Amino acid sequence: MYNSKKVYAIVLAAGKGSRMHSETRKQFMKLRGLPLYLYSTRKFLQHPMVDAVVIVTVKESFATVKEAIVAACPNTKTPYDLTEGGKERYDSVYQGLSAIHRHIMKDPDAAEDESIVLIHDSARPMITDKIITDSITAAYAYRAAVVGMPVKDTIKLLDREHFVMDTPDRKQLWLMQTPQSFDFTLVYHAYQKLMKAKAEGNDTSVITDDAMVVETFSNARVKIIEGSYQNIKVTTPEDIAIAELYLN
Ligand code: C5P
Repeated sequence: MYNSKKVYAIVLAAGKGSRMHSETRKQFMKLRGLPLYLYSTRKFLQHPMVDAVVIVTVKESFATVKEAIVAACPNTKTPYDLTEGGKERYDSVYQGLSAIHRHIMKDPDAAEDESIVLIHDSARPMITDKIITDSITAAYAYRAAVVGMPVKDTIKLLDREHFVMDTPDRKQLWLMQTPQSFDFTLVYHAYQKLMKAKAEGNDTSVITDDAMVVETFSNARVKIIEGSYQNIKVTTPEDIAIAELYLN
């Protein structure tokens, strides 16, 4: 709860993680003995401002995930729910938002326009309490807020033959992370419009994060706040070693 708004978190753990080239889905790979998705799930379940958590995952893992949460956070009072993900990341987010919407409809103390939602990739285990708190206060202040960090390297825009087309000014470039946090009504309606556009046959493959959905399907401006360089997304095998180093 923050300033009388209910705070929900969606933890995305329904991807295939094909860039990891592993038999086990990336989110279930163990880091220091714990599956990857549990690090962020536990942070949200233990954060005092978070009212409920929705974990979006694959149906065949529901029982294992529930057991793992009970073992990792035996004393949590925060309610959580599991829902099945979809083909693309944005399908999984929409499943999570719909689960929260159903929850709000049933809860007499909750209201769609009095809620904030934080959307997080479970592949980012290094999320901190400060990042969660900052995301909640920024979502309250700006309606749409995403954590990111300034790029350290020079970024080049390439053509199809890999020749340089342009070098954007580095001072204006930031890498986006998660959580991506929003006023619930704003992001839910933007996602409904995205789903309609998809059903009408529009190309939605360019959508790679939640901010883009809000940028494309609403008039809201997205505020970028500082996350952390340690808040990495575990994507390829070498990221596992880096994440384990940070977790130590
Ligand atoms: O594949 P990538 O690492 O970009 O995915 C980001 C996050 O979104 C991961 O935590 C992954 O599990 C999740 N995801 C999902 N459903 C999908 C695709 C990705 O929940 N269909």
